[in-house]
Amino acid sequence: MPAVRVAIAGSSGSVGTQALDVVAADPERYRVTALGVATAADVVIQQALRFRPDVVIVADAAARTEVASALPGIDVTDDITVVADVGDVVINGVVGFAGLPVTVATLQAGKRLGLANKESLIAAGPVVAPLRQTPGAELVPVDSEHSAIHQCLRSSADRSEVARLVVTASGGPFRGRSAGELGDVTIEEALAHPTWSMGPKITVDSSTLMNKGLEVIEAHELFGVDFDHIDVVVHPQSVVHSMVEFTDGSTIAQLSLPDMRLPVEYALAYPLRGTVPFGRIDWPSLGSLDFAAPDRATFRCLDLCYAAGRVGGTAPAWLSAANEVAVEAFLAGHISWNQIADVCNEVIARHDSGASSTIDDIVEADSIARRHAAEVVVSMGSRAR
Ligand code: MG
Repeated sequence: MPAVRVAIAGSSGSVGTQALDVVAADPERYRVTALGVATAADVVIQQALRFRPDVVIVADAAARTEVASALPGIDVTDDITVVADVGDVVINGVVGFAGLPVTVATLQAGKRLGLANKESLIAAGPVVAPLRQTPGAELVPVDSEHSAIHQCLRSSADRSEVARLVVTASGGPFRGRSAGELGDVTIEEALAHPTWSMGPKITVDSSTLMNKGLEVIEAHELFGVDFDHIDVVVHPQSVVHSMVEFTDGSTIAQLSLPDMRLPVEYALAYPLRGTVPFGRIDWPSLGSLDFAAPDRATFRCLDLCYAAGRVGGTAPAWLSAANEVAVEAFLAGHISWNQIADVCNEVIARHDSGASSTIDDIVEADSIARRHAAEVVVSMGSRAR
């Protein structure tokens, strides 16, 4: 069997580096053909020297010049959409809205997309949905919860048998604390995730439960289940990655120790199973598994996502964009942790339903929402002084 050609967009990030771990663990089966980064020249040079891809994509011009001179014999370009030409599977590990072109190009090319970039699906759901009908196109989620649901759904022959999706949430570093106690948390505290090691943006999103809310919208888009039939349950151990309940009352869950390499390997090997075990469980030492309802009053971002998801159209795009701006402002020390939800709430209150049927519509909605969010952040900063 020829090696599966793997193209990785966002190779310097958390998902990207773990995807390279998976490839390195099974070099007979996978070959890296493309590595893409925004600016991380040093990292991608080291990765390219080790994995010898056909092409390296670097968005930043100065970094691209540096990479090109360090990698004679490898094509270096600024066009991230070439991942769709050279990969049988494209792993989209780009952070934020910038991941949309990779999602679109891969599905349009009729290739398999291992999607870790949830924003492109959440913000651009109305654009991405029809692209999934392209012959050969296949979307396999690389998000632990959605990978779990994807696996659980394979136990059912008919989607009408699904009663509800149950998305698990670790609860993040602030689980069990009230809004009052969270007024002055530091950036370092928000970045200390109890069970997963991830990039800063998604780690802050986990602390606010925005990540979980966005994952609910993602689950709706991926699996076509309406919001009344998607529930969130807090599960601090992050061993049950999500569940599907069927109409006969049976629940199928997917369990493994928290290790993103497993959902990456699942997407690379699909529809087969990978051969290298990641996150396998030693049952006698596992201990107990706990479940509880989320605290929706403290972690307001969760219900903001349900509301935006139900509105549909450009509302999820607005919310996701507002959140990106708010998280950047928090990480820069301009607003407090509690104000992340305030910014999102104020921006979504200004939402007016624009068109959402083309990529240009979504890009415009994203930039309008960012302008509103930047305004709200500035007004909050001046109120705080
Ligand atoms: Mg997740």
